[in-house]
Amino acid sequence: MSLRRSIYKSPAQLRAMVEPGLITAASLDAVRTLIAPGVTTGELDAAASALITSRGAKSNFQMVRGYRHTICTSVNEQVVHGIPGDRVLAPGDIISVDSGAEYNGWNGDSAFSVVLADPSRPEVVAERQRLSDVTQGSLWAGIAALAKATHLGEVGETVQGYIEANSPESSGTAGYGILREYVGHGIGRKMHEAPSVFNYRVSDRGPEVRPGLVLAIEPMVVIGDQETFVEDDGWTVSTVDGTAGSHWEHSVAVHDGGIWVLTAPDGGAAGLAPFGVTPAAIA
Ligand code: MG
Ligand code: MG
Repeated sequence: MSLRRSIYKSPAQLRAMVEPGLITAASLDAVRTLIAPGVTTGELDAAASALITSRGAKSNFQMVRGYRHTICTSVNEQVVHGIPGDRVLAPGDIISVDSGAEYNGWNGDSAFSVVLADPSRPEVVAERQRLSDVTQGSLWAGIAALAKATHLGEVGETVQGYIEANSPESSGTAGYGILREYVGHGIGRKMHEAPSVFNYRVSDRGPEVRPGLVLAIEPMVVIGDQETFVEDDGWTVSTVDGTAGSHWEHSVAVHDGGIWVLTAPDGGAAGLAPFGVTPAAIA
């Protein structure tokens, strides 16, 4: 018999994960309202930090060994794990923001992307907005799949299928790339727990989907090839071909009544509606 902690949480543990999810969502809202040309990524980090502290929570990113910031800010060819600092946002940038809060020993984790307006480069803005929209859509498709899945592998299969079906078909490209080296994860007492949540098809069906499973689902998608490298700062993951990336993430609980998106104040109702799924609040 294994002594490993079960990946399935009790109803009381699921209830304990509601508040850190909402605080995580609020920290991203605080950042979202500030994003504009001329703002630094460090200012975004400060806003998220202030929000999390004001709610009596802690930044769980700051508990990651060697990381001293509250959020990750990944701009343009940076896909994930970008470090906030004195970089100034410019018109036409696509920025992905990732945040997480720990409250009473339980964790939330969520990310969004946004494209800044640039009237002088409408084609660049449109290309990046489409990337963000498809990445966001693949996240909701994956969450909707979780609501009906018997095994976790159906989530990754659905995410990949959505991205393939919605990639642009311009000549010379093979469609959007899906990062393979970085994946979603279970979440609970720790921000990163088993199981891995792949954003693509794998041969293994994965663990059973049943009440108690709590996952951070987080597709990372790029306009070009999925190959990435870690920049000299030791954190920032950027595309080798220089094309832009997008990252969207939610923490989602499976419970007796259905699913609930912990990091969305409406439980995911708006995002899931196009897929015919209605979230159920955790009782
Ligand atoms: Mg995250
Ligand atoms: Mg995550």
